[in-house]
Amino acid sequence: MNTILQQDLKDIENILEKVKQQGVDFLNSMDTVSTSNLNTITTDRNLNQTGLGALSALEEFNQRLAPLMIASPGPRYWGFVTGGSTPASIVGDWLTTIYDQNTQAVKAQGGVSALIEIETINLLLQLLDLPKSFLGGFVTGATMSNFTSLAVARQWYGKQLGKDFAKNGISEPVAVFSATPHSSSIKCLAMLGIGSQNFTKIKTIEGNREAIDIVDLKKNIEVLNGKPFILITSAATVNTADFDDFLAINALKKKYKFWWHIDAAFGGFAACSPKYMHLVKGWENADSITIDCHKWLNVPYESAFYLIKEEHKLLQIETFQNSNAPYLGDPLENFSFLNFLPENSRRLKALPVWFSLLAYGKGGYQDIVENSVNLALQFDAFIAENENFELLAPTRLNNVCFTLSGDHNQENVGQFLTLLNDEGKVFMTPTVYQNRKGIRASFVNWRTSKNDIEIVVEEMKNIIVMLKI
Ligand SMILES: *Cc1c(COP(=O)(O)O)cnc(C)c1O
Repeated sequence: MNTILQQDLKDIENILEKVKQQGVDFLNSMDTVSTSNLNTITTDRNLNQTGLGALSALEEFNQRLAPLMIASPGPRYWGFVTGGSTPASIVGDWLTTIYDQNTQAVKAQGGVSALIEIETINLLLQLLDLPKSFLGGFVTGATMSNFTSLAVARQWYGKQLGKDFAKNGISEPVAVFSATPHSSSIKCLAMLGIGSQNFTKIKTIEGNREAIDIVDLKKNIEVLNGKPFILITSAATVNTADFDDFLAINALKKKYKFWWHIDAAFGGFAACSPKYMHLVKGWENADSITIDCHKWLNVPYESAFYLIKEEHKLLQIETFQNSNAPYLGDPLENFSFLNFLPENSRRLKALPVWFSLLAYGKGGYQDIVENSVNLALQFDAFIAENENFELLAPTRLNNVCFTLSGDHNQENVGQFLTLLNDEGKVFMTPTVYQNRKGIRASFVNWRTSKNDIEIVVEEMKNIIVMLKI
């Protein structure tokens, strides 16, 4: 063994002790860590011939890199839709690395890691009040969950025309309908060879809505004359957290032949609260559902899962079968994740979720969801009452979409947000909503409190004064 590796192995307790302490320090100082950083690094470091050993590498990390880390798991990181990491999820994440299991087949030596993943999917179905008729698996994010789901949808579509797209490639244009698809679904259409421009944009409901207009959807379905199609719907759009009408789509499902996909990356967690579960009523009849865990479930990046109806199992295997590796066995007899999703070798991705679900239970997640929505509404109330700001849409769940008041201030929105983000107390994302420049604040972090809203409100008022708006 290389002598430096040997030294590190001997010193492992001391090394991990130092890392643990550093982790504790970071987590305990999250409130004071900046949410943005303007400093940068040069990326041309030379690789040394003789290794430094873990502790010296840590020293260099702490000198050059750690000071540039931002408080993205913190309570005032409201950009994108990003949760933090619950304490139990950190435990699961650390242990995933320590145990370093390849999570594929059930009937293999070490197959328990695949069973842990299956158990975790079952726990998630209970959390979200969904039936056992779904099979699920973990992927890196909602983008890959959309990809996995839409890949099976594509195979289903081919089958309706008597074709096997997975084997022979796409020989026919694929009909895809959606009203307000997330950008990642469009990216998936490109990756799947369907084409990012080859979908029909269905109208949204008139007024300040992003949800699908069922009348316009029906019109477009009639034009197909009985041909199949793929419908991509939303359980919470990113700008205004709007939901498509799933009960109306249930009624269409009885009449027409289509694959129904729901992108519920963060909105699916509405099901955790009796107050908001009506938003996803009827979603159990979808063919596939995308859900992100590194958002409202508050586990570390990269964690998401797909749910696909078990009745589509063969289509899923046709799509993802790792067929040229006979030593892996018959995919129908020997369940292995590698025949159901894009990746082959996989870490035990489910473990952080498993830990967090056991640690906090249904009640814990109901509290996180309801707390987030309450805070969004408090922030919404500030925006509504302050003359300098204007809501771009009503706050339907946990995302507040707003802008500076008045059209004359449209040119100041970018500068306002840059100054605000540069202060490092809060981070929000720019957006465009109904042709107006806006700002989005998303509430998903388990740590966010009323005090954080107050800090941000003060900051925002200060920037307005600075800008003399
Ligand atoms: C965040 C998000 C995605 C993409 O998720 P990643 O985890 O970044 O891959 C897709 N759809 C919706 C609705 C989202 O909010």
